Amino acid sequence: MKDNIQEVHAICKKALTDGSLSKDEILVLLNCPEEHSDIIFQTADAVRKKEVGDQVHLRGLIEFSNYCKKNCEYCGIRGKNKNIERYRLNKEEILQTALRAESLGYRSVVMQSGEDPYFTAEVLADIISTIKAHTDLAITMSAGEFTYEEYKTIKEAGADRYLLRFETSSEELYKKLHPDSEFSQRMECLHMLSDLGYQVGSGFMVGLPGETPEILADNLLLLQKLDLDMAGIGPFLPNSDTNLAGAAGGTLINSLKAVALARLLLRNAHIPATTAMGSLDPKGREKALQSGANVVMPNVTPEEFREMYQLYPNKICLRDDPAHCRKCITGKIQGLGRTVSNEHGHSLKIKKGY
Ligand code: SAH
Ligand code: SF4
Repeated sequence: MKDNIQEVHAICKKALTDGSLSKDEILVLLNCPEEHSDIIFQTADAVRKKEVGDQVHLRGLIEFSNYCKKNCEYCGIRGKNKNIERYRLNKEEILQTALRAESLGYRSVVMQSGEDPYFTAEVLADIISTIKAHTDLAITMSAGEFTYEEYKTIKEAGADRYLLRFETSSEELYKKLHPDSEFSQRMECLHMLSDLGYQVGSGFMVGLPGETPEILADNLLLLQKLDLDMAGIGPFLPNSDTNLAGAAGGTLINSLKAVALARLLLRNAHIPATTAMGSLDPKGREKALQSGANVVMPNVTPEEFREMYQLYPNKICLRDDPAHCRKCITGKIQGLGRTVSNEHGHSLKIKKGY
């Protein structure tokens, strides 16, 4: 055991200045006993401070539709789930939500939905260009897979960023969990988004049934290989409306280790303290912010729709209004000795010339 602590210390010391960890080194950190993991979190916190500073970027999350034509096994809004009420916000409601977010001080919004056939690229483009005409918000889309031409239409309308998680790096596990998607297509989409000049975010869930430490290590290496601008990582939280209801789900410690390792590997990428992390543990988001994360995505969806957008159970802040959330999260961030950024929080990577 003593050897293991020394090994963890040695790897962390190297990672302070060098993000080229091998798979074996990643596995040592992932497998180290919980009582030794603080050193990993502290190292990630130091790298975060050095690479992206103390500012935390807020993105207001607009969940604009819970219709989905797909059936990802883990997801509460999968098309075949008949136990939920479906909704979609119209253009005016989305615009009003964006305006409200801007008036609360947000510089950036994330528009997320299921794969809803109503929202074609043209419909989205019209909404995005309208928001751009009325606000100075940076816009991130998170609405699943489209063709190259469709992503291009959305980009030309003014979308700045796109989030599309690869969910797991194991093709075999991906196949089991996605009856209507292909891993290779997910990868292709990520390349298209990058080619089109989007700031690209991807990521994965921690603790999917069938995940091994090797797969988790490969997930982290894939994040690095994709040279992402943003990386979103959260625990898998079993949803009672799905066939995975009885699965174990991701643990806090493994999720925090994954966030910390993402910071060590990706250096200056934006990494959110995800809502799923906060839903798993009341202090989950704060712990993630102290383990490498530098972004929070508070919900700005109108209260009456929030309950219907439950990808996973026990989602936090279901009944809080957006003004309350904004104040609450600012307090939490300041309580950690950090500040809320008042900038757009664009990618810090210079490769794309931002
Ligand atoms: N339809 C889009 C965006 C909405 S889903 C897409 O699939 O890309 C956004 C993310 O929610 C998914 O990428 C997945 O990682 C996460 N998610 C879905 N179900 C979840 C669950 N049960 N626990 C934790 N995260 C979940
Ligand atoms: Fe639809 Fe996204 Fe859920 Fe899959 S993860 S079922 S694509 S909302």
